[in-house]
Parts: sequence; structure tokens; C-alpha cells
Amino acid sequence: MILAHRVALDPNNVQRTYFAKACGTARFAYNWALAEWEKQHAAGEKPTEASLRRLLNAIKREGFPWMLEVTKCAPQAAIQDLGIAFKNFFDDLHKLNRGEIKKQQIRRPRFKKKGKSKDTFSLSNDQFCVEGDRIRLPRLGFVRMCEPLRFAGKIMSATISRTADRWFVSIAVEVPDTPPPVENQDAVGVDLGVTTLATLSTGEKITGPKPHKVLLGRLKRLNRSLHRKVKGSRNRAKAKTKVARLHARIANIRRDALHKLTTMLATCFGVIGVENLNVSGMVKNHALARAISDMGFFEFRRQLEYKAKMSGGKVVVLDRFFPSSKLCSDCGFHAGEMPLSVREWTCENCGEAHDRDLNAARNLKSMAVSSTVTACGAGSSGARRKTRVKLPAMKQELGVNPAAA
Ligand SMILES: [Zn+2]
Repeated sequence: MILAHRVALDPNNVQRTYFAKACGTARFAYNWALAEWEKQHAAGEKPTEASLRRLLNAIKREGFPWMLEVTKCAPQAAIQDLGIAFKNFFDDLHKLNRGEIKKQQIRRPRFKKKGKSKDTFSLSNDQFCVEGDRIRLPRLGFVRMCEPLRFAGKIMSATISRTADRWFVSIAVEVPDTPPPVENQDAVGVDLGVTTLATLSTGEKITGPKPHKVLLGRLKRLNRSLHRKVKGSRNRAKAKTKVARLHARIANIRRDALHKLTTMLATCFGVIGVENLNVSGMVKNHALARAISDMGFFEFRRQLEYKAKMSGGKVVVLDRFFPSSKLCSDCGFHAGEMPLSVREWTCENCGEAHDRDLNAARNLKSMAVSSTVTACGAGSSGARRKTRVKLPAMKQELGVNPAAA
């Protein structure tokens, strides 16, 4: 399976300038290819990312000689990304025709804008090498990394990107699928939080990070200060960096909480039952704990699935129609409609008092356990389903990181 390790870099000024230039080249190539794609498409031709890359290679020496100042991978990978963006768009169009998604959910690839789009460029694995805590880049020499690469295996690619004023490299490594070390068969149900980050069927409530009143207050103040600065001034740029750094810090705290939760679940339990919030999340999301609502249920599930895979566990994602909070976990009585404001309720059938979240977690656990039992009973179907669920997660590992991380 492919894992990505994102490491902070410690570049010097020359290297920073190079990074910024490479990101600019990547953005230009993406925009150039998008314009060319639309032009050829309008002329009745069938452009592909490969043909556009060949075209750019043929003209760049004449037309854009400055492109040669940075690694050739920057424009090449950017055009490959455009190809992926178009493929996703066309796939979504087919889904739209089949009525699986709504029109608002699809978006044609758009031009990237300096200062708005993420600064990023990618390198193929023949263009760099990692030695301990430094990475060697073409035309640039060694750049220090803040920690050595964590995973051993074949290095596939690297993506360099900027968050606030820091540079990061995300290195994709293909690690061998080792047989899981210890078979831990404890099962758990996880109800993702309305008020807490998560409630486990064991009764444990994970509150997650506090709302960081101090940081949020500072953010407000910095934002006010930013908007008092003259547009285009040096002071405004400085204030903007400060705001971006604070945003990154708050996001890091939340990301940290989510990683700790998924690592704990994957190492302590063999079977993890969660509810699919992707669709019903539309209703629930406004109330989800911020660590999850910021990154989305998809990220929670992605982390949980690859970590469970590494420790030999299994994630059971339950259907969104499963009424986890409305069933009594003691007797199975269906309590009917229950608004989100109801935090505690008493079963009319058996008289048991329930905490809404804990009850939901217990139901998720028993459903997860029974679904693995049926899967094991039907021979290898369990294993097959596992791979089918995990394949997209692995692809995402690669797909999400260069583009969004
Ligand atoms: Zn009951």
C-alpha cells in the first residue's frame, strides 16, 4: 500500500525562491493546458493530457524559456493533474446522467489564481533522492527536512507545497503489505460527535481539542488589523502571513486530535463500526465536532481504514439508513423520530435510560460485530469486501496528497 509522509522543510533563501518559481511554473502550465484544452475541444479535437504535454515540450524552449529554470516535472505533473481533473469531471458527468449526483456537486476544471490556489509542484522519483533527514532536488542540492522519512519502501513521488510561510514535502512510499502483527478482535462502535469528538461503545467520550478561545481571539484581532492595512502594501502582506500562520496552527491542532483518535481506535480495536456520514452528514454536519467537520468524515474514514489495515483491523462502515440513535441498544425497540436536541432518553419498552451518543455507539458496535460474523461465515467474501473498500482509500492517499496536502 502507498503511504505519504509529509515533512516540513527548512529551505534557505535560494531554495525558497526556487520553490516559489517552480510553483509558479506549475500553475502557469496548468492554466496554459486548460486554455489549450478548451481551445482544441471547441475546434472539435480530442485533447489529452499526454498530447498537451508533448505540445508544451515542443514549444517551451521558444515560447517560455524561463520554464527551463526549474525541474521539468513541475509543468509535466501539473498537466497530468489537469488530466485527472478532467477525468473526474467526465466521470461526474456520467454520474449526473445516471442521476447519482446533483448538478451542484460537479465542477469543470478552473484556472488557478496566484495567491488563491495552493502553491504546489510535484517531482517523479527519478528527480530526487532522500538521504537521512535531507532531500536532494534537481538544480538545487540538498534541502533539510525536519525529520527523516518514516516509512521504508520504494519511493514513488514527492510533492512540495506551501502552507502559510512554511514549505513541506509529501513523499509517497510504497510499503509492503506485511501480515498484521497481532490479531486484536475487540470490537468498538464509534459515534461521531455532536458535542464531543467521538463517543465509544465502551462508554469513553473523547472531547478532542478545546475551542481554543485564546487562539480564536487572536485570530479575530489579527484579521481586524489586516483589514486596516492599505491594499497592496508591505504591511498588509506581513499581516496576511500572520493570519495564515495562525490558521495553519489551529488546523494543526484539530488535525492532531483526529490523528490521535484514529490511531487509538486502530491500535486498540480489531473491529471498528462507524456510521456513514457522507450523505446524511449534510443534515448532521453543522453540529459535528470541529475537528471532524473541518476535515470531513471522508478524512476520518480514510485515516481509520489505512491505520486499521496496518494493524490488521477492520472498519465496518454502516449504512446511513441504519437508525443508530433511535434503537434501544438493550432490547432493540425503535423509538421513532428523535430531534438532535434530545441528548438522553428512556426506552418505552424496557425502561432503560440512554445517553444518545453512547446508545448509538453500542448499536454501531453490535452491527459491526454481526456484519463481520456473516462475512466470515460466507467464506472469503469478507476478505474480498475488505480489499474493495480499501482500494479507493489507497488511491486517495496518493491522489489527495499531491493535490490538496
Ligand atoms: Zn429498550
